[in-house]
Amino acid sequence: MQYPEPIAKLIDSFMKLPGIGPKTAVRLAFYVLSMKEDDVLDFAKALVNAKRNLTHCSICGNITDQDPCSICMDKHRDESLICVVQDPKDVIAMEKMKEFRGKYHVLHGAISPMDGIGPEDINIADLIKRLQDDQVKEIILATNPNIEGEATAMYISRLVKPSGIRITRIAHGLPVGGDLEYADEVTLSRALEGRREL
Ligand SMILES: [Zn+2]
Repeated sequence: MQYPEPIAKLIDSFMKLPGIGPKTAVRLAFYVLSMKEDDVLDFAKALVNAKRNLTHCSICGNITDQDPCSICMDKHRDESLICVVQDPKDVIAMEKMKEFRGKYHVLHGAISPMDGIGPEDINIADLIKRLQDDQVKEIILATNPNIEGEATAMYISRLVKPSGIRITRIAHGLPVGGDLEYADEVTLSRALEGRREL
């Protein structure tokens, strides 16, 4: 039996999400049918609002509903310290720790020659621009502890080194191959504390 078109479309939409296979997509689609109409409308609105009202901060690249973002605008944070991460979710992980009082730079990815992703495909150029006004004294490279994350850290380190800015890499208390966003707060805090000079 073929699904009626509206539900077939809904199933297709769910299947476009990461980690959702055909079976789960069917289950979610039928669940939506069983929901109250108001709840479905709220859900649809939340999807559209998130997409429409969030933008990338023009300074750090983090997702935000105001530009520049609240972290970049925060005068109590240390301008001289920039923590470089791959993903906006990593900023959330770092912020949960409540220890880091510097600023961030979000790369939106990592260098991965295998996937055809080069330095120009991620947000490195804006990072270099931020270093030009001589405010920044240290860059903490908090890219993920896997091949792509290491390659990206090495690339940025080589690029920035001539400027004399201190460059550090977070320590390897983090599970190798794991993502920063999944590290618990204690592990992350230790990784930050034990950062080493590059
Ligand atoms: Zn920002």
